[in-house]
Amino acid sequence: MRIAALIVAAGRGTRAAVHGAGPKQYAEIGGKTVLARAVAAFAGHPPVDEVKVVRHADDGDLYRDAVASVATGKLTEPAIGGPTRQASVLCGLEALAASPPDLVLIHDAARPFVSAKTITNVIAALEAHPGALAALAVSDTLKRASDGVVTETIARFGLWRAQTPQGFRFADILAAHRKAAAAAIDTFTDDAAIAEWAGLDVAIVEDSSSNVKITTAEDLEVADRQFSSVLEPRVGTGFDVHRFTEGDHVWLGGVRIPHSHKLEGHSDADVVLHALTDALLGTIGDGDIGQHFPPSDPKWKGAASKLFLEDAARRVRERGGRVGNVDITVLAEAPRVGPHRQAMQELIGGVLGIPAQRVGIKATTTEQMGFTGRREGIAAMATAMVYLPADGA
Ligand code: MG
Repeated sequence: MRIAALIVAAGRGTRAAVHGAGPKQYAEIGGKTVLARAVAAFAGHPPVDEVKVVRHADDGDLYRDAVASVATGKLTEPAIGGPTRQASVLCGLEALAASPPDLVLIHDAARPFVSAKTITNVIAALEAHPGALAALAVSDTLKRASDGVVTETIARFGLWRAQTPQGFRFADILAAHRKAAAAAIDTFTDDAAIAEWAGLDVAIVEDSSSNVKITTAEDLEVADRQFSSVLEPRVGTGFDVHRFTEGDHVWLGGVRIPHSHKLEGHSDADVVLHALTDALLGTIGDGDIGQHFPPSDPKWKGAASKLFLEDAARRVRERGGRVGNVDITVLAEAPRVGPHRQAMQELIGGVLGIPAQRVGIKATTTEQMGFTGRREGIAAMATAMVYLPADGA
């Protein structure tokens, strides 16, 4: 019994092509292309004897680079696809026909998470049926709508979502595809539909919901995150003080608040954003605000402190980090922070790319003790939590 896997990778996948990386099957998830992962799933499955990819005529270099890491004796010369998925599959089947296998498993390259169990179950179903497809029972209630208004609820009983692999006895599916091509019917969206049309019975093999199809850029990002190296939490703290001087407003958390005095400083003296900038820099061990924005540099005179926070956020991003949450406490007798809390949360959340609820803003007096108690100035402390790739550094 010879079993071949045919991986269909000839599509253009433009819906996911936002990274300028070309078709989605050549995009990387966790440092390995989608195609390489799909190929490896079959090449690493002992009962599978041969893996053949159907690629686009223009993708020769992409293909070579993609499979370099998974090249095994099982991977044979790729076939060149046609203008539709259906045509591409036929190209692949014809290429296999030179040395025909007994069974063929046709699989979309865009499903890199297919499990060994699913492959095994599809092969097993072919003992009793000429065709078998991996499928998921429909669990959502289905609606038909017209102009955005529901016209019908469709009973979901007995409905399945067709996935891949779809396995067939090779001679049967080749004959069915040739017959469809001869009849000039080119609108089949999967191979099971061609098998049904040709009168073959196709068994359902219940699949797992993890065998997702990578269709959009968002799918790619989700998949990439799953495969990315483990993230570890890092914590940083910051503290800042500025003295009051003559004026009529203070800047706190990027918000202008009318007050009897202003805070003295080289920039806008926003203690909240200064403390928070230092907390973020602390998570990556990257110095402090004074090192990156020296008060001696006239360039930063009167600067909006939002710039400093944006710079720290960029440094975290460049390390592959993302902010989990931040928390700030303002120490002052006045002004009151509460009325401005939401505006600060939204501004800081916007800079850090996190929801406002992940920005804690709290305030306390110091019971009229110490320099803040004597209304000589305002202090702020901040804590930042960042997830960084665990790289051993
Ligand atoms: Mg400062």
